[in-house]
Amino acid sequence: MKPADRKFLEQFEGRVRKTIRDHKLLARKDRVLVACSGGKDSTTVLYLLNKFGYRAEGLIIDLQMGSWSGQNLKNILEFCNSKGLKLHTVSLKDGYGFDIKRIRSLVAGRKDLTACMVCGVMKRWVLNRKARELGAGKIATGHNLDDEAQTCIMNLVNGNPKLGINMGPRTGLVDDPRFVPRVKPLFFSLEKDSRRYSELMGFTVLYRRCPYAGEGQRWKMRDFLDILEERQPGAKSRIVDSTLGVFREIRKGVRPGQIRHCSKCGEPARSETCKVCQVLGELEAF
Ligand code: SF4
Repeated sequence: MKPADRKFLEQFEGRVRKTIRDHKLLARKDRVLVACSGGKDSTTVLYLLNKFGYRAEGLIIDLQMGSWSGQNLKNILEFCNSKGLKLHTVSLKDGYGFDIKRIRSLVAGRKDLTACMVCGVMKRWVLNRKARELGAGKIATGHNLDDEAQTCIMNLVNGNPKLGINMGPRTGLVDDPRFVPRVKPLFFSLEKDSRRYSELMGFTVLYRRCPYAGEGQRWKMRDFLDILEERQPGAKSRIVDSTLGVFREIRKGVRPGQIRHCSKCGEPARSETCKVCQVLGELEAF
């Protein structure tokens, strides 16, 4: 390996360690469930947390989207086998009666819902429930700086900047025994760096997007931010840092809020029913 590449690996790992340390993301005693997709970011998180000495296991939700999902599942299974890491799998269809193909057909023609929105809330719901069942005290995800910058811009474009109040390398303002806190060790790492790390480490992962990625708003933001970053280097980082700064001030003195429990499924919710029950209820009625 070239010296420059070795140096890059050290710097990348150093940034992830610093994120975990500075933001107190994890304690040694924590049992951590890493939300794996089979992609570069979550595979890197699973690898690094174990390298750093944390008790981290993987969980992959099989989205059953043909060969793309099948290959991701195969890749992460082989990765975990080769490293002696524990991997849990859960199928969206077998466990919950829905797969993304069915969701796509149900949301077809709707302007207010996309398959990605439904997929996102369902994945969060499943992850929280499985983490609790498995006794994990934290969920670690592979969200990187690009993902966070996209979220900031999406919140602004959609006229909902307040949605960013919980933004950060760890979830805040929620205090509930049924809610498993989420942490993001790659929060300050650019996607291109995470990719380079994964490539240099020789991880067998798919680098192409989910076949339905183009349908979500996030992916338009991603293209927009890539152009912006090219013209104004550091733009993604400044967007995230300044948003964090604004909400840090607002959060000062605000105590973690109590959350409600969904009257249908019992999972943490911000209103009478959780997002998943709302969306599934709407889709069934549609
Ligand atoms: Fe789900 Fe959309 Fe992500 Fe594909 S791109 S995995 S459909 S959220």
